Amino acid sequence: MKRNQPQHAAPSSADRMRNIEPVICYPVEGLPQPDISGLQEIRRTATQSDQITVPPRDAACIVVPAGAFFRITSVEGPQVGDLNLWSADDLNERFYSGKTRALHGTHLSTGDRMWSSFPMMRPMATIVDDSLDWYGFDQFGGSVHDVIGTRCDPYTGRLLSGDDYHHCCHSNLTRALAAHSKLPLHEAEAYVHDVLNVFMCTGFTRDTGQYFMKASPVRPGDYLEFYAEIDLLVGLSACPGGDCSSEHSSDTADCHPLEISVWIPDGSTRTKHEMPQLNAYDRSHGVG
Ligand SMILES: [Zn+2]
Repeated sequence: MKRNQPQHAAPSSADRMRNIEPVICYPVEGLPQPDISGLQEIRRTATQSDQITVPPRDAACIVVPAGAFFRITSVEGPQVGDLNLWSADDLNERFYSGKTRALHGTHLSTGDRMWSSFPMMRPMATIVDDSLDWYGFDQFGGSVHDVIGTRCDPYTGRLLSGDDYHHCCHSNLTRALAAHSKLPLHEAEAYVHDVLNVFMCTGFTRDTGQYFMKASPVRPGDYLEFYAEIDLLVGLSACPGGDCSSEHSSDTADCHPLEISVWIPDGSTRTKHEMPQLNAYDRSHGVG
């Protein structure tokens, strides 16, 4: 991290360079824009087809067909969820948190999309409703639903504390994917990836740029809702950090379940769904 006492003297142009206005790396105006109000209208025709409860300190998987909606809801008490998405047809196509962050910023909300890994790189899901969108950014620069964290995992825990904790989100998602896909545990583990931290309130400290978390504002009944752009396998872990107000990677925090419900629009509406094409780059990488 950046220390307060640099070992090198600043050049005479330091202030001029610091005062250069930043430019947005990836202006999103060029992206195909989702029709959010159209999707919200379709959502009103949808009926619930499926539902699962994700137990505290555990994870679960559920299939969501393209053109359907899924909603993650807080029940019983404040709880953070770590979300993974895979193409239901090919686990190699998975959510790309880093590129989604580069396109949509550090925290997601209504209108943002969850993009898939290279070489597919297409929208997997579009956020259509967020009951916590009122939170915005707080005085510390914190906000909810980040794509800056990774997922709590036993390897980092081992490095930092020397202990093994088996109910981190990484292990929860690994067990849930292995059980769902019937893959051996270590094969399933390789498909678990960086997450969307649903309901988690996070940011970077202003002085050191360190990743911080604070008590999530989520209350029972709050939800984040998505439109499935492709056939999805959705994995969700109810983080052992609970509301992530103090610590994770232990059994200390109060933890609560999360619910995922799936909503199918009526038949005629659903047939209008257009599957996003695979990314059109030819993959020649300048060779030949
Ligand atoms: Zn976690």
